Amino acid sequence: PDARGVAHPGTWPRAASKGLVDPATEARIDTLLAAMTVEEKVGQMIQADISAITPEDLRRYPLGSILAGGSSPPIGKPDRSPGSAWAATAQAFNAVAMARQSKHEPIPLIFGIDAVHGNNNIVGATIFPHNIALGAAHDPELIRRIGAATAAETAAAGIDWAFGPTLTVPQDDRWGRTYEGYSEDPALVRGYAAAAVEGLQGKAGEGRIQDGRVAASAKHFLGDGGTKDGIDQGDADVSEAVLIGTHNAGYPPAIDAGTMTVMASFSSWQGEKMHGNRSLLTDVLKGRMGFQGFIVGDWNGHAQVTGCTKTDCAATFNAGLDMAMAPDSWQGLYDATLRQARDGTIPMARIDDAVRRILRVKLKLGLFETARPMIDRAGVIGSAGHRAIAREAVRKSLVLLKNEGVLPIRPGAYILVAGPGADDIGMQSGGWTLSWQGDGNSNADFPNGQSIYAGIAEAAKGAGGRATLSVDGSFTRKPDVAVVVFGETPYAEMRGDVRSLEFQAGDKEALALLKKLKAAGVPVVSVFLSGRPLWVNPELNASDAFVAAWLPGTEGGGIADVLIAGADGKPRHDFTGTLSYSWPKTAAQFVLNRGAPGYDPLFAFGHGASYARPARLGTLSEVAGIDASVANTSLFFAKGKVPAPFRLTAGAVTQRAVDSATLQEGAAQWTWPASGKGSVRIEGPSLDLTRESNADVQVQLTYRLDSPPRGPVRMALGAGSVDVAPALAKAGSGWQVLRVPIKC
Ligand code: BGC
Repeated sequence: PDARGVAHPGTWPRAASKGLVDPATEARIDTLLAAMTVEEKVGQMIQADISAITPEDLRRYPLGSILAGGSSPPIGKPDRSPGSAWAATAQAFNAVAMARQSKHEPIPLIFGIDAVHGNNNIVGATIFPHNIALGAAHDPELIRRIGAATAAETAAAGIDWAFGPTLTVPQDDRWGRTYEGYSEDPALVRGYAAAAVEGLQGKAGEGRIQDGRVAASAKHFLGDGGTKDGIDQGDADVSEAVLIGTHNAGYPPAIDAGTMTVMASFSSWQGEKMHGNRSLLTDVLKGRMGFQGFIVGDWNGHAQVTGCTKTDCAATFNAGLDMAMAPDSWQGLYDATLRQARDGTIPMARIDDAVRRILRVKLKLGLFETARPMIDRAGVIGSAGHRAIAREAVRKSLVLLKNEGVLPIRPGAYILVAGPGADDIGMQSGGWTLSWQGDGNSNADFPNGQSIYAGIAEAAKGAGGRATLSVDGSFTRKPDVAVVVFGETPYAEMRGDVRSLEFQAGDKEALALLKKLKAAGVPVVSVFLSGRPLWVNPELNASDAFVAAWLPGTEGGGIADVLIAGADGKPRHDFTGTLSYSWPKTAAQFVLNRGAPGYDPLFAFGHGASYARPARLGTLSEVAGIDASVANTSLFFAKGKVPAPFRLTAGAVTQRAVDSATLQEGAAQWTWPASGKGSVRIEGPSLDLTRESNADVQVQLTYRLDSPPRGPVRMALGAGSVDVAPALAKAGSGWQVLRVPIKC
């Protein structure tokens, strides 16, 4: 019973899939299974990415599903396509699938997409706030309406299936996917899960789901938010009780609500990759928790199972995975799986069970009976009704952390709107917006959206005042107040992993802007855009009011609704949002567990001021406050691939100081006991990555030193090296970040 990664199903809660199994459907599946060839069965179990397959390929390979992962554009179309382009592509693929010769009725494809805050893949779609913001709204009914609107905008583009809701319960804010979780609190996630599923799918019941609804995918099962040090795709080294009590909180209600699919997590539990964890996928999820839909894998997630590759992984299917997400590896995986089905490596009973579950969902979705309603015919995408819901969500998700008499902004005021996020809908929306990383978006990509500045300008005008945009904060006529919008730039998944929670460690550009305005005698309201709570004490000190706005999406006007008073001087809306994540007091408070002794955040879970309950803060400590004897050190290779080997040497070599090292997609991290007091040597793990030709590699070192180094410190990458001692000598206390380009 103590074997690693093995669960004891008897200790897990019971649940039961509602509305997925009925005798007539099962009889129809029996008929299909009896007539299907093994090739057709295996084809149902493999999902390809739309960028790596053509309709032509489907004539030879009877695959059952296609995804557009990380918002890959429809084949042959330019990126950033409207809904109609997606729908046409889906139709072109499906036409081939439906024309295949077989001994049974044609089996339609199922299309899946990451519609995680609206159908974020399509130009003109309504982009809702990310889940971290929705958690702050504490409003399950709102979650249900957002789900329904997301489903409508997804179905209108010809897509059947949204890869959401994310039911993760993030425990370490350094994780790059923190913002995809509603809360660090399992009870809040549990309270949202059914509403999120029912919003997308409609209420579970008999017969097929309604038009305009899509299949949900509760993800990522299980423990994605519990990985050590918040490392994406890492290991959740937690007890089974924590797995059940914290990370599993949302799954029983999602299953009861009839979620048609569950996505397996990239992460492992106690060293065992979830994609290969039979006891959790089969005995717990399908057994004890009664899940009757199908389990889909994550992006080549099966390849991480011991003994597997992208194109060969019987173990994942034998563990209970029903459909592998094999974006670019579909062809090889199909061939291998077919062989393993034929030779019995994967028992036919297991194959039949997987295919039964997949067909069940396809029938439930009505894919056999109907041509899906397509091509944005009712002006569904970006409709006024959906945008109104998104705007309401923005209002309700704002959390007021400080207000010393400056908010609400009075009618008639002249407002300067400054900062990098002032007029940038892409920055408002974060990752998973039009592209995977949410980068490179311009306001023109959001024809129905409104920037925070545009919303403020409109509201100011309505209240007899005016607003000017000045990103760098410069002005000629002195404003009555400045609203400064700043925060994190978009990221997704492991690219958002950080080692310190200090906001803008090192450069502090936003802080300089706040101070400049204060020095000019302008009261400052900070609107902070972020995918997680961060250590912002200096920025809080430099602001008269501070609003956590998270990643609000396309309806920037929701911020003005709360900040700007009406013409009568009264607030038009008060702040109602409260923190669904604890806010750190130091840059090293990565994990803030309310239940644990010593819980001492800057702002506790549930905190949030309002006009009725104003918040004065006093001056906060500005020392990040890290234990002086131990430092966590990490290196991020910001650009391109990493040439091996990496070495950092300082002064006389005293000891080899690498305790443990893990390597993750271009980031090397290790614990560094600061025994050498500046005379430490760190030798990187051997980095076996492809070298990018002649590139300057931007190396970012996050470090803390007890005392400045005494000799030269060379940072070496491949053949290149630089002396970073002068930069290190300037280091103050607390976390520092050093960015150096190295030619190698
Ligand atoms: C993510 C999933 C996502 C999938 C498809 C993966 O990298 O972990 O959340 O659904 O990609 O884009």
